[in-house]
Amino acid sequence: MTRRAILEDPDPRLRLPSEPVDRFDASLAQLVEDLCDTLYAGSAIGLSAPQIDDRRRVLVMDLSRQRTAPQVFVNPTILSRGAARGLVEESCLSLPGVSAKVMRAVQLRAAARDAAGRPFERDLADMEAVCLQHEMDHLDGVLFTDRLSLLRRLGLRLVAGRASRAAA
Ligand SMILES: [Zn+2]
Repeated sequence: MTRRAILEDPDPRLRLPSEPVDRFDASLAQLVEDLCDTLYAGSAIGLSAPQIDDRRRVLVMDLSRQRTAPQVFVNPTILSRGAARGLVEESCLSLPGVSAKVMRAVQLRAAARDAAGRPFERDLADMEAVCLQHEMDHLDGVLFTDRLSLLRRLGLRLVAGRASRAAA
């Protein structure tokens, strides 16, 4: 069991784009295991590789009640989004103490590979759809607060916090 340290904003490593996985080997299996161990050590529903300082396009999520059904997405892509969008409250292990509602598609069809390299497609709805989009953003160096308006970021004091740190 390896619980890895989670990078927190404004760590610049969270802003780097991740690279597609082309080797489905023991190193990838270890990454998936570490992601699950780190996810289950806390109460979050999803975790991406860049948050534990790994540049591969891998994420895990588990929205099951018992937290015994991890979903592993390697090289995920979104094939289609439904027209319905919703405002859902999000938080992030890399932004402790911050939560806000983000507008996202609430129905989508995703394609990915599992840890063994087998391709699959899956329909996701509601929180699962939101979680996948949040974690996929991490693979592109995007944090959920980037998707808020400036006014709402000011409301969270993110901008003010950065300004005062920069001034200190
Ligand atoms: Zn996050």
